[in-house]
Amino acid sequence: MVVNVKDIIEVGKNLYNQKLVSGKSGNISIRVKRDGTDIIAITPTLRSLGDLNEEDIVLVDLNGNLLTSGTPSSELNLHLEVYKVRDDVNAIVHTHSPYATGFSFSSKKIKRLEGFGKIKTPFLKEIDYITPGSIELAKSVGENIGDEDVVVLKEHGILTVSENIKEAESLANFIEEIAKTQFVSHMLNLNPNK
Ligand SMILES: [Zn+2]
Repeated sequence: MVVNVKDIIEVGKNLYNQKLVSGKSGNISIRVKRDGTDIIAITPTLRSLGDLNEEDIVLVDLNGNLLTSGTPSSELNLHLEVYKVRDDVNAIVHTHSPYATGFSFSSKKIKRLEGFGKIKTPFLKEIDYITPGSIELAKSVGENIGDEDVVVLKEHGILTVSENIKEAESLANFIEEIAKTQFVSHMLNLNPNK
């Protein structure tokens, strides 16, 4: 394969083993620049991220044209739109990790804590619900992601982006961790007099 996809396989396994993705959910991509052209390597549709081989990874160009066989993730357009608007991003992780996704289905927002760099606003950026896998969702994320490293997709999941895949993986872990902590502290504080 013209692109080294070992890291995608490894991160897929990690996310699966850490239960940040389950079943066939979640997707990962990286961007590699070759001779001035962007090549995107993305996980395939309808496969567990915990059990992928190098030949399962699908390569496309920035317009989504297939460069290898296989069917890319149904969220391919979402990944492409982010790469188009963010030159600094070379890796994207999308999960439905349970605590963070639980927040996305509630009116409560995930607090932005130390570790995200400069704390610009009190809560993580949220993007309104649009049907998963749709071009409309992809466009909305492209228009709204700004310079965020993490966005919450309402009633859906989270997206983390970075210049490298290990960092995007680490952010996905971190978000789940703080969502969990926030959930637990909220529950413990529900009856402060007991
Ligand atoms: Zn999703």
